Amino acid sequence: MTINGQDVRHTLEGQTGLWEIIIGLEIHAQVISNSKLFSGSSASYGGSPMSHVSLVDAAMPGMLPVVNQQCVRQAVKTGLGLKAEINKFSVFDRKNYFYPDLPQGYQISQFKYPIVGEGEVKITLKDNTDIYVGIERLHLEQDAGKSFHDIDPQSSYIDLNRSGVALMEIVTKPDLRSADEAKAFVTKLRSILRYLETCDGNMEEGSLRADVNVSVRKPGDDLGTRCEIKNVNSIKFIGMAIEYESQRQIDEIENGNKIIQETRLFDTSNGRTRSMRSKEEAHDYRYFPDPDLLPLNIDDDFITSILEEIPELPDEKKDRLIGKYGLSSYDADILVSDKKNAEYFEKVAVGRDPKTSVNWITGELFSALNKLALDINDSPITPENLGELIDLIAEGTISGRLAKDVFEMMLETKKNPRKIVEDENLSQITDESSLEKIVDKILNENPDKVMEVAEKPKMVGWFVGQIMKESQGKANPSVVNDIVKKKLGV
Ligand code: ADP
Ligand code: MG
Repeated sequence: MTINGQDVRHTLEGQTGLWEIIIGLEIHAQVISNSKLFSGSSASYGGSPMSHVSLVDAAMPGMLPVVNQQCVRQAVKTGLGLKAEINKFSVFDRKNYFYPDLPQGYQISQFKYPIVGEGEVKITLKDNTDIYVGIERLHLEQDAGKSFHDIDPQSSYIDLNRSGVALMEIVTKPDLRSADEAKAFVTKLRSILRYLETCDGNMEEGSLRADVNVSVRKPGDDLGTRCEIKNVNSIKFIGMAIEYESQRQIDEIENGNKIIQETRLFDTSNGRTRSMRSKEEAHDYRYFPDPDLLPLNIDDDFITSILEEIPELPDEKKDRLIGKYGLSSYDADILVSDKKNAEYFEKVAVGRDPKTSVNWITGELFSALNKLALDINDSPITPENLGELIDLIAEGTISGRLAKDVFEMMLETKKNPRKIVEDENLSQITDESSLEKIVDKILNENPDKVMEVAEKPKMVGWFVGQIMKESQGKANPSVVNDIVKKKLGV
């Protein structure tokens, strides 16, 4: 809709009229790499405290950082995946601040010259419309260590295992307008990072976390003052934080108060945000180029070699699945949200009806995997076996109804469905003379019902049901239907 000459996608109603929520995200994504950004220590998650710490990570005097080329590759790859401009010249800066778990006294980051510039991410909203969210920049920086204040009553403990691990900070433009849009964006970004294999997207382990900037305004007005909610580590919490914070700001302004630019924390125990500190001005960090590191110069060959490694990404995969298999946008979205789902689907769909394949995967299979808490890669039912089950129905060997039982047996035994059908003697009976015997039996047993048919032709259905039961679900219902009709003369 258009309000005051401005395109408005989402509004909240306050006492003084409609409000618009403005959201921009700063996402910290941990780079997948064996070693840290400037040292050779392991970048893997966990490990006993202080076991992944080199002299560089501990900031011993005189130690020199050395750039890990793999981390640079990963940042460029991510930039290409975000359809962003790759900056051939970029600079590592020192961002100075004191933090107990930051032994250098500064974080090596990128400020004025980030490695990746503007890009965009397409997201599909619930009403099936697409919007484009602008990416402002992506830069590389070091993670800090971790402090523990709850182990000992007297002392704090510090673990530097994470200190120096490479992070990509991905900053969006203030293009998001609701909690749902922000959630859809993070979901999409995470999916892209996973396709690219540049970040595992594991929010519980902190590999992906978001600083959420929120402001409100009357539609058509300039941007309002924002608050930044730090380190929100689940998609659900991102949504909750935005909903709480936008309402809080509206209430403040409508009560005649001003919003102060500040950093806030999301309290997961009560779903509220609270003030942490008023926001430092950027120049307080006294950024300057790190004299221990040369600027990064990236050449075309380096970029080309990375371009060759970029897999088909969710948007292109979605378009292809729709074009090749005639899937609906909804089904395609479910399949591409995880590349493993799409791979599974394409194995099932070879030479089979795509819609039937999708239905089995997103219906029976997903709900079974969900119950068993299994990843699709660990599915007891292989795509080949699910495909054969679909074939058995299409051939008429088993009915759709029986197929569900066979599916359950496949889950339990991991066996091939054809084998199950043979072993359990489940083949559908289509042979007319065998079926006629069953039909005759049922008709003979129910002379009263036979009499009723002349007045109530719908009784045919009842007979078919009885015959199906008698055959333990194996009779072919349409053949039975024909025989019953013929015998009863309807
Ligand atoms: P800083 O460097 O101080 O964190 P930036 O200008 O880089 O500030 O912006 C950080 C994030 O805040 C970006 O994601 C941006 O989109 C978002 N942002 C900027 N202004 C607003 C605003 N008025 N309301 C909501 N988000 C905003
Ligand atoms: Mg910031």
